[in-house]
Amino acid sequence: MTDLQLTVIGCSAAMPRPGGACSSYLLTYGAVHVLMDCGPDSLAILRGQINPRNLDAIVISHLHADHTLDLVPLAYGLKYGPPEGDERKARSERLALFVPPGGTAFLKGLAGALEGSGHESDFWAPFAIAEYDPEGTLVVGSDTNAAPADYLTFRFAPTKHYIPCQAIKITPPGDNPRPVLVYGADSAPVESLTAFARGADLLILEATLDTPETPVPVGHMTPRQAATLATDAGGVKRLLLSHYWGHVPPETMIAEARAAFDGPISVATERATYIVGKE
Ligand SMILES: [Zn+2]
Ligand SMILES: [Zn+2]
Repeated sequence: MTDLQLTVIGCSAAMPRPGGACSSYLLTYGAVHVLMDCGPDSLAILRGQINPRNLDAIVISHLHADHTLDLVPLAYGLKYGPPEGDERKARSERLALFVPPGGTAFLKGLAGALEGSGHESDFWAPFAIAEYDPEGTLVVGSDTNAAPADYLTFRFAPTKHYIPCQAIKITPPGDNPRPVLVYGADSAPVESLTAFARGADLLILEATLDTPETPVPVGHMTPRQAATLATDAGGVKRLLLSHYWGHVPPETMIAEARAAFDGPISVATERATYIVGKE
């Protein structure tokens, strides 16, 4: 069976930790390479892992700056940068960029701010931009490998955040596919995410806060709240805490989470890799 590998590219909340990056995750499955989110400084770390021209797609959870802004230098690099060693994609080929509803207008506004909106900008020309349907299923495959197994499916569920945000479930194609990776993106504790996370082999949840939001959660969670959500979901094999500031020692975050979740718990670090369902 083909392994589904997750590489953490960026896991900082809002502002990159020293030497780190904001939210970004690389998925590798056979010949398929997909980037989820593209926060500030993630491109520097991504380029140590893969030539971005060799990505098959980028999928964006929501339109906050800490999940999107390195799309800007990526656009410049794809457009003006020199070819790099092992490039397998033709320079004329556009990189698929899947954004949530409203993403096209967001990108157009960003291009207008950067290059002026007086003309029809080709700022995002290196990308084939499409808004995904959060109620639908996205299938991404490698265009250079004919093996039917080399596809990944992406499903979505709304989180509780300050703007519309989608949690993302990644699996191989088929009925009852394994393994299952769930990326909670940014969220306060919410039933839609709990239900979505059920049975995940690996569950990535944010752990932005030191103390829970009061009187009601609105957009983020603590390590303890993440662990509680993982337990309430049921069947979660491993919890990966991410999207954190870095002022709290990882061992403290894990200790807080340990009180509410019995399974393996890790704190994400840039470049860490996980074989989903195997460790
Ligand atoms: Zn956010
Ligand atoms: Zn964020």
